[in-house]
Amino acid sequence: MLDLSPDIVEDPAAERMYLNGRIDRLDLAGSGNSLYVKILDYKSGALDLSLRKMADGRQLQLMVYMEEVLSWLRQKYPDRAVVPAALLYYHLSDPFVAEPEDGDHDALVRSRLGAMKPMGILSAEPAVLQMLDHGLSSGANSAYLPVRMKKDGTPYASPRLFTEAAYRALWETSRAVCVRLGRQILAGNITAQPFRDGADNACTYCPYREVCGYDPRIPGTGTKTEN
Ligand code: SF4
Repeated sequence: MLDLSPDIVEDPAAERMYLNGRIDRLDLAGSGNSLYVKILDYKSGALDLSLRKMADGRQLQLMVYMEEVLSWLRQKYPDRAVVPAALLYYHLSDPFVAEPEDGDHDALVRSRLGAMKPMGILSAEPAVLQMLDHGLSSGANSAYLPVRMKKDGTPYASPRLFTEAAYRALWETSRAVCVRLGRQILAGNITAQPFRDGADNACTYCPYREVCGYDPRIPGTGTKTEN
């Protein structure tokens, strides 16, 4: 279990704070001394990871899952380098795609796979991308990943691709948000301040909408536009 208690509570020996969650799917691949980790979360609606939402703390889930798995595997395999490879959302759907006029079955399959690609962030290392998609070829889109390869076998630049340093920076930001929110909860700050980002409103699909009693007209409540 990911332990952020030392940073959140005053006395970790007397008090602890736990984060609960369930990882839908975890894939591991070994190469040499390294162990690569892919986390996949199944969603009933289309969802993409946004670096902006991750940085401001609105999308902590996959980063927290990945860090928990990395820490567990590093304890289990202390002699191996455990490396994050991909953090992806998979939309459970059965998309309709137009059949090519020439009846090209392969094109139809490619089109359907394209509509079913998971979304998220992944390692920029070409060797890791090859492990994630064995059919990845130079100068083409991956059939299974949101990535396009150049003719020289490296991926086109994309905000979806992270280096090890970029991943660490992203986790440090997410971790700082977890710690800050944990401290606020322990301090008794439970003010309803749902996030609003243009048309993106935290209340829209919230299952507690009918019972939470939130009303922005009540003094002291309001929306947040940044963490
Ligand atoms: S509906 Fe209530 S509980 Fe849900 S996000 Fe909005 S304020 Fe929070």
